[in-house]
Amino acid sequence: MKVPILALLGCAAAWPQQYDIVLKGGHVLDPANNINAVRDVAVAGGRIARVAADIPASQAKKAIDAKGRYVTPGLIDLHFHAYGYSGAIFPDDTALPTGTTTVVDAGGAGFRTIDDFRAKIITKVRTRVLALMNIAGRGMIGSASEDNVADMRPAETAESIKKNRDVVVGIKVAHFGKPGWDALKRAVEAGRLADVPVMVDDKIFTNAGRTSQEKLLDVMRPGDMHTHMYNDRQVEVVSRFNGKVQEYAQQARVRGVLFDLGHGGGSFLWPVAAAAARGGFFPDTISTDLHDSSIMMQQSDMPNCMSKMMALGMTFEEAVKRSTMIPAKVIKRLPEIGTLGEGHSADIAVLAVREGVFALKDSWGKKRLASKKVENVLTIRAGQLEWDSEGRGFPEWTKAGKYEVIP
Ligand SMILES: [Zn+2]
Repeated sequence: MKVPILALLGCAAAWPQQYDIVLKGGHVLDPANNINAVRDVAVAGGRIARVAADIPASQAKKAIDAKGRYVTPGLIDLHFHAYGYSGAIFPDDTALPTGTTTVVDAGGAGFRTIDDFRAKIITKVRTRVLALMNIAGRGMIGSASEDNVADMRPAETAESIKKNRDVVVGIKVAHFGKPGWDALKRAVEAGRLADVPVMVDDKIFTNAGRTSQEKLLDVMRPGDMHTHMYNDRQVEVVSRFNGKVQEYAQQARVRGVLFDLGHGGGSFLWPVAAAAARGGFFPDTISTDLHDSSIMMQQSDMPNCMSKMMALGMTFEEAVKRSTMIPAKVIKRLPEIGTLGEGHSADIAVLAVREGVFALKDSWGKKRLASKKVENVLTIRAGQLEWDSEGRGFPEWTKAGKYEVIP
């Protein structure tokens, strides 16, 4: 039967394609909205438009089958290196394939170099790049900068943060090689002036007057975070004498000090992590410390870090929460990021939880075998499909066209 063309147009008008993308039938995990169920997610104009039990595929320009996969907010990596540091890496080709739609550069730039960071990286990439501003004026360019107390200026740092609030979400203090608390105290003062948290990456230096206990209980504030929590030379969460979680680490947690994974090239050790996990001491936030010496052999990207936490007993749901909602909250960006709430940026990860036998490696070149592994299969950033390893957003050829298909 011949259908008049006007009738077809009329039909299209009744079912307008009001959405750019709809993800169909995935298991949505959105801790900020207490959603843990099969739902469809529609995206329009770069934002989450609707989350509902059934959104017809015909209402979207592109329908993507997400059955058998978890649909989560785009992962937020609270500790990444995109600028300044000698091992810094380009964010897009490392973050987006792993479902990581936001990376927080941990101290690459100080108040003297934030403009350069913005011009060269932040405005040039598709990944959302935020920054923890180094208390050292010139940032993470080695000991000439990171030990230079005279150039750690709380007032100038806080002023610069106030001018750059769109990208700067906190302060970083790192690699301080001198005795005492000068660097951390200046970072905390800048944090107080700008009302932002401080991330600490700082050695225990017992013979020069720095201890984990004093740092966690006396110098850091509630809301400040210690990264690299599972190494044994920056913060001694586990006693090396009895393998138990330190009483003062528990007290620090009670007073609101936060602990961040910060896997990195030397900071995730299975014996420390396993002992801490036995004592119930897991990271508040999961992060990678991704740079050129942690990305390849140790596979410290976000899904691998989540897998390692699951191997220690954390549930997948908790691993998602500590990679999305909680990091967003820590840097005061929830609900702008870290949730699939309607109206917010359409930053989405589609994750598979594979079952099998997997080798998960630490920073000492040792592995543990695990039966589950998280893998990102699809990433949407600001409404754009950026990664699709299973081709879920790709239509199949239905005919060979002008080329012959060789059977
Ligand atoms: Zn780092």
